[in-house]
Amino acid sequence: MNVKVRWLQGRRIRCAHCKEAFVYLHEGTETFETYGVSLVSSDEGMQKEISKQARKRFAKKIQKTKVGRGLCPGCRRYQSWMVWESRANSVIAWGLGAMGVSVVFGIFLIVMPPWAQEPGFRLGTVAVLLGTGIVVGWRRAIPAGVVPKRVDPFSITDEEFRGLLDHSRRADADPLTEWYFSARESAPGNAVLLSVGCKDYTGEEFFPPKWSSETVMGSL
Ligand SMILES: [Zn+2]
Repeated sequence: MNVKVRWLQGRRIRCAHCKEAFVYLHEGTETFETYGVSLVSSDEGMQKEISKQARKRFAKKIQKTKVGRGLCPGCRRYQSWMVWESRANSVIAWGLGAMGVSVVFGIFLIVMPPWAQEPGFRLGTVAVLLGTGIVVGWRRAIPAGVVPKRVDPFSITDEEFRGLLDHSRRADADPLTEWYFSARESAPGNAVLLSVGCKDYTGEEFFPPKWSSETVMGSL
């Protein structure tokens, strides 16, 4: 049986541009397999099995720095590593798309007039397609400069995070799932929402121990 998990982690980093610290919500999806035969294995047994797998996988994930994406609430810029990651993904996606179109173009050559069969025209068309794909990919990536009008509800200041903690304490709820639902209407389709806690990558231990990734994962 497969169980899909949408996991949430709060990450605090210091902006390389304005030197302010901020917290952003990092999300991911993981699929867990349970090997027990569902008829005979109890729900509790299955839960334990998933928890064991989850702890192992997330322990590695939370050690990784420079992942996810959040707009700095102080200077309204993305970190350069976020921009480069976005550019790489976008250029690869659009480049592959352009290659797909080139293949289709190649297939249709058979029914085209002789001048279209010329190597110069063929190569030129493929070059234009690929070039366009790369340029479009680059331009569709997140921008390196200031984006004053962009709203990122999942990237907030220390002060706002403290407000979120107060709110979740009153609601007796997990702050990350509260955060998630403050900007999203519903849970992700057919996935279980799981908070894996918060980690301060500035080394300042900003988060209360109760909500640290180490504590939350330990109690999974
Ligand atoms: Zn900043």
